[in-house]
Amino acid sequence: MKSLKDLPGIGPKTSEKLEDAGYSDLMCLATANASDVAVIADIGEGVAAKIINSARDALDMGFETGLKALEKRKLIGKITFGSETLNELMNGGLETQAITECYGAFGSSKTQIAHQLAVNVQMPVKDGGLKGRVLYIDTENTFRPERIEQMAIAKGLDPKKILENIFIARAYNSDHQMILVEKAQSIMKEKDIRLVIVDSLTAQFRTDYVGRGTLSARQQKLNRHMHDLQKLSDNYNAAIFVTNQVMSRPNVLFGDPTEAIGGHIVGHTSTFRLYLRKSKQNLRVAKLVDSPYLPDGEAIYTITEEGIGDAVGAARKPRVFKEKKEEGDISD
Ligand code: ADP
Ligand code: MG
Repeated sequence: MKSLKDLPGIGPKTSEKLEDAGYSDLMCLATANASDVAVIADIGEGVAAKIINSARDALDMGFETGLKALEKRKLIGKITFGSETLNELMNGGLETQAITECYGAFGSSKTQIAHQLAVNVQMPVKDGGLKGRVLYIDTENTFRPERIEQMAIAKGLDPKKILENIFIARAYNSDHQMILVEKAQSIMKEKDIRLVIVDSLTAQFRTDYVGRGTLSARQQKLNRHMHDLQKLSDNYNAAIFVTNQVMSRPNVLFGDPTEAIGGHIVGHTSTFRLYLRKSKQNLRVAKLVDSPYLPDGEAIYTITEEGIGDAVGAARKPRVFKEKKEEGDISD
């Protein structure tokens, strides 16, 4: 059984509606919400739940053995950041089957890293890529094809080919951004997407939900959005790279007065969190925070014409903190 039409209890009209909405294969349906499916296909929630269940049965979902989980983790791919130090901090590179969140102030190089990863993922595995394509959701209109060209040429790659493999979508508001991710399911497999970028994850949500009264609505939506992204990473063995802004905490007297937007929702759903900050000249510092199994530490990297790289003569090993520090505590 391969397509929606083959499921018991699903007519051609319903399957067509679902496919139009981006539920293109059984996996999309099996991991969907009954209430969403009910609205999209214009059916009752009970019927929707039954359809979802039959998709799950067809895929033999449910419990998996530890061995199977291990097999799946063996398929985790890693994309080079372009800096050896940063790669080492991140246990080899940007991982698939995970969401990596990068937060930092304006100009801390979040967008530059996004561009670099969009190039690097296309390289062969031996060079640190996954030979995959990219989905780039640009919410701040900061995607620059010229910058991709520069980075591609620096790596001896054909810039035209590299640009052809990056699918860009502008998100005009937070709802649009969510729809783009929901719809992404339909092209992940077909286009062999291995990297999904959302730059910025939170900016549109911040503009759309202003004031205290809207906070819980915003967090609910963000939660949904994060889980949709997580599904993409799980179902298609893709790496998810999202950027986040910081806001200042005026009541903090000691330590770092900045924190990431989105609070616990974003922080807890991200597998890896990198806090970026500017240093001297073209140097940047990435700090790994709250990783499930990697030690917290810091890596210094550079941004030049060629893209992300390592500082000449600098230590290639990241600085690993022996003890876990309190969040927001920068140890200089
Ligand atoms: P963020 O997304 O965190 O706000 P960016 O990723 O846009 O920040 O980083 C902008 C910085 O990247 C610039 O301040 C500049 O230092 C550096 N940068 C951008 N383009 C180039 C380039 N072509 N050559 C060298 N450095 C660049
Ligand atoms: Mg940016």
